[in-house]
Amino acid sequence: MDYKALAERLIPGNYPALDHYEKKYPPRDLPKGAEVTRLAPSPTGFIHLGNLFAAIANERIAHRSGGVLYLRIEDTDLKRKVDGAVEAVIKALDYFDIKFDEGAEIGGDETYGPWYQRGRAEIYRAFVKHLIEIGRAYPCFCTEEELTALREEQTARKEVTGYYGKYARCRDLTEEEIYANLDAGKPFVIRLKSLGNPEIKHKFHDEIKGDITVPENDQDVVILKSDGIPTYHFAHAVDDHFMRTTLVIRGEEWLASLPIHIELFDALGFSRPRYGHNCSLMKQDGETRRKLSKRKDPELSLEFYRKEGYFARAVKVYMLTLLNSNFEEWYQKNPDAPLDEFKFTAAKMSKSGTLFDLDKLNDISKNELSKLSAEEMAAFLKSWAEEFGSEAQKAYFNDEEKMRRVLTLCMGIGGKKRRKDFTTASQATEFIKYFFERPETYENFPCGQTDCVCILRQFLEAYRYGDDAQAWFGKVKEIAAANGFAAEMKDYKADPASYKGSVADVAEILRIAATGKANTPDLWTIMQILGEDEVRERILKALWEVAEHWWGENQTPELENALDEMIAHVTDKPGEDR
Ligand code: GLU
Repeated sequence: MDYKALAERLIPGNYPALDHYEKKYPPRDLPKGAEVTRLAPSPTGFIHLGNLFAAIANERIAHRSGGVLYLRIEDTDLKRKVDGAVEAVIKALDYFDIKFDEGAEIGGDETYGPWYQRGRAEIYRAFVKHLIEIGRAYPCFCTEEELTALREEQTARKEVTGYYGKYARCRDLTEEEIYANLDAGKPFVIRLKSLGNPEIKHKFHDEIKGDITVPENDQDVVILKSDGIPTYHFAHAVDDHFMRTTLVIRGEEWLASLPIHIELFDALGFSRPRYGHNCSLMKQDGETRRKLSKRKDPELSLEFYRKEGYFARAVKVYMLTLLNSNFEEWYQKNPDAPLDEFKFTAAKMSKSGTLFDLDKLNDISKNELSKLSAEEMAAFLKSWAEEFGSEAQKAYFNDEEKMRRVLTLCMGIGGKKRRKDFTTASQATEFIKYFFERPETYENFPCGQTDCVCILRQFLEAYRYGDDAQAWFGKVKEIAAANGFAAEMKDYKADPASYKGSVADVAEILRIAATGKANTPDLWTIMQILGEDEVRERILKALWEVAEHWWGENQTPELENALDEMIAHVTDKPGEDR
């Protein structure tokens, strides 16, 4: 067969001699040991935890070795392409401080581009043409229907499916048959002519999994599709060679294709990069472990972490805990050190499925956030609110001093023990809401409506903003005693039957009235932050709320008296329209 003529017929045109590409994309001038790694996502718009997992590993390995991390966009499948997907990848990874040195939309060194596979058609075609010329690739005219029938036949016979050996029908077409098909205008793909035998197995060193055994490939895989665009397999070999990747860290779902890639690199005469196949992230689902799923698990998408406002360092700490078996120990010894100081290695990466547990991440988040100063926390919450918060939430940051006081209190800064109540920016912003917005709803008051109304009214009368914590609490005790609640806890504990409750219940009533919540940090400080007018407004609003809520069904002479009395004492009602 005249392979040269066939190649010219299948891929017409002049392509540069192959060494042109070797010269155009020379080996990189990097110090010994420097690794060139990459992230090679498809622009589907969905960037997930698995991408981050691989990105952290690739970034660490490249930058710890003084090498290069680049971004290549695998856009050979146009059907899956989504506008803005590349920017989304860059933005999502930037949040976790993953910075590329070069690549699509990065603007670094362009020597090894183009970075979009669609822009590299000429290179792929030159090398496919070369493989046809040397008899290592051939046209296949099989239709979709024929291939489906073949697969069904193989499945029925319990044989390995695919286009190989005796099933590779077009492999042995005669020159006449090929040209007749071409003359008839039949569409074709180009397949690799495999020379391998899967019975023969070779030792292979995977940088993550260690020494494994890999069989030879015998599949005549498609390398160029009928639209002239290469498949992942072929583009991977050409791109990782000419972009001079030294180490490919990719998901373990590609391990099964490794034999194909090994054969392709050999057929093309390229030396191979080293490989590390990263284990998948699993989730405990009842009794079983399964892969995180796009449909079932919102936490798979990286968008989830930005929207919820996860603290990037916390996510990274958790990812590193999962990625490197010795990270946790290092982190315990160096809890505040920059994460880049950890000596990340591919060899310490997990060899098999890693369990991803959102509760563990949340614990790490609480811990990491509790280390921030009030100013750092405010900056973190503000940047989240600017992108994802409501208008009301954005306004929380107008008064910097108030925000500082709120966070100092809520985080327990300056107190005996730092509080760990914040998990994410969205949760923390919701947590501090009552400092900025009046409560709409109230948790249950721990007493009847009459006591509630009396206590709130008496508090309004006694309340002075200038009282220090001690004087303030003295008044709360007096109100307790006046309403049949024990002013001292020890008295209540000694004889609970003699009281309606204790001073703690009275404080809780005030707390719920002021914040809507039964559990908050120190109430006196909260009232100091809210300011006198706001405290009065809130207590009064709660008072009306309690009275109105219960009034209909529970009208009692006591309540009626209490309300009359209150109205006599308190003139400024919240809103005349009530
Ligand atoms: N485009 C492939 C993917 O997104 C890249 C795999 C690789 O890293 O080689 O799965």
